[in-house]
Amino acid sequence: MKPKLINSIEEMSAIRRLLKGKIGFVPTMGFLHKGHLSLVSAAKKQSDIVIVSIFVNPTQFGANEDLSNYPTDFERDIKLLTDLEVDYIFFPTDEQMYPEGYKTWVNVDKITQVLCGRSRPTHFRGVTTIVAKLMNIIDPDLMFMGEKDFQQLVVLKQMVKDLNFRTKIVGCSIIREKDGLALSSRNKYLSSQGRNKAICLNKSLLLAQKLFNEGITSSNKIISQMTDLIEDNESIIDYIEVFDPETLEHIPEVVSGSRIALAVIVENTRLIDNIKIV
Ligand code: AMP
Repeated sequence: MKPKLINSIEEMSAIRRLLKGKIGFVPTMGFLHKGHLSLVSAAKKQSDIVIVSIFVNPTQFGANEDLSNYPTDFERDIKLLTDLEVDYIFFPTDEQMYPEGYKTWVNVDKITQVLCGRSRPTHFRGVTTIVAKLMNIIDPDLMFMGEKDFQQLVVLKQMVKDLNFRTKIVGCSIIREKDGLALSSRNKYLSSQGRNKAICLNKSLLLAQKLFNEGITSSNKIISQMTDLIEDNESIIDYIEVFDPETLEHIPEVVSGSRIALAVIVENTRLIDNIKIV
């Protein structure tokens, strides 16, 4: 069966009120790849009804970011979601989500100012606001999100807890290309040379794990070797950070369970990735 396409908030809310069973929700910005589809598959397995949203959320882009170029392919997205037998696709317009006179923001303190928040100070405010709105409209039992955006996952779990949403967030592992590059809609911006350079993100994370396996635990030492590897690939580091996965606070010594995340600019495209050190 083809998914039902819904582009109005009123219709989505009205349909939702009639749905029974466990509702699984996957929020996306479209231009779907296997990373998104892994979330949909997880939702299919764990829910009775699956709703996917496609909305390129303008408020999570900074003034000089790629909102106007953000890749889209709605027809292809619909086909992929039809193949996976999704039940509903919700794709509201900007005007519906942010009508003239819109004034309300959801903001999570502190953990939104570190890591990606340093160079994207208004990004997470946009993310938490749109996800809160989508959750109010869809009221899902489960919401599926990728660990690819690890900070986003932690921030949204905090929001759900603090604002007493009843939805449970399910974190799903990072899907990668065979050579280790984490799938991302933004990989489309890369030339074939850039694509090769971009593997340095994952390579540097694997190097961190190797160093840890060899007994090196100093975050500074690990970050320094990761830095060399990335700079050898002519890429610009926004940040590399070693942190506690719950507080997102920097830790000077890596332990099993620590996270390392990084943002690197390859050919003007800012890419992110992370690893759980085991
Ligand atoms: P986006 O469309 O970029 O907003 O991403 C929508 C969801 O897909 C988010 O929960 C992302 O974390 C998740 N996602 C994006 N890329 C990947 C990936 N390579 N593996 C797993 N999940 C991903």
